[in-house]
Amino acid sequence: MLFSYSQISQYVRCPRGYRYRYLDGWEERESRPAKAFGRSFEKALAAYFSGDDGGAVFFKEWAASRDAPFEYKTGETWDRLFHQGIRLLERFAQEDRIRIGSPQENLQVKLLRKLPGGHEFVAYLDAVGAVDGQRRIIDWKTTTSRYVEAPEDLLSLDPQLICYSWMSGISDVALVVFVRKRNPEIQYLKASISDDQRREFGRVVETTVEQIESGHFASHSGIRFPQNGCISCPHLGLCLNNQELVTAKLVRRQGAGNLDWLDELVD
Ligand code: SF4
Repeated sequence: MLFSYSQISQYVRCPRGYRYRYLDGWEERESRPAKAFGRSFEKALAAYFSGDDGGAVFFKEWAASRDAPFEYKTGETWDRLFHQGIRLLERFAQEDRIRIGSPQENLQVKLLRKLPGGHEFVAYLDAVGAVDGQRRIIDWKTTTSRYVEAPEDLLSLDPQLICYSWMSGISDVALVVFVRKRNPEIQYLKASISDDQRREFGRVVETTVEQIESGHFASHSGIRFPQNGCISCPHLGLCLNNQELVTAKLVRRQGAGNLDWLDELVD
């Protein structure tokens, strides 16, 4: 089997949710514009680093979602998101803090790693490049609110970046956060991942894969703060046997197990 960060983190969050998503094929409906916006924006960044017109690529990609039946938040529209994207791209170019050499090789970098039992692990790094002159793994995020920055080194606890460091052997990581708000802002958050963290993540992956192979899918339910994962879980309708909720939130994809690593590309 081919595993990815998305699968491991889903299992750690709730094994029952893993079973619904990755064995039974229940996927969340894309009802909000955030993911489509993020995908369009990342394609624009790739174009920018390849010397093409990032704004034109963003328009072309985002235009494909113009008539999608998204549920926009109050005050949000397709146009407003388009203008926010363009302003973020302009600001990113002005700040000019990131260099990606050989973009063909250093954007969407695919890494494969062998796991015990004949399994493999796949990761797609958004980029490997220099942030303020230092080589780092780079992960792009688009969001509507700033990421928490304090205390110092908080980012070194981000499991996705630990995973990418484990896969690549690169210690230094950065999260570049594009904040969609009235005055767009870009955060450049940096951290270093230690050897111990990489080793520990490797052990988490191995034990998680063993649990999955053994067919352990107990629920980790929670509805009270701070363990209230069920409230935001797309599979809530399945756990409650609520067909209305299932229909509203989920679609079922049959026989797609071999392509589940694609989650990694949209995360
Ligand atoms: S609703 Fe709760 S118990 Fe059910 S899959 Fe989601 S997180 Fe797990």
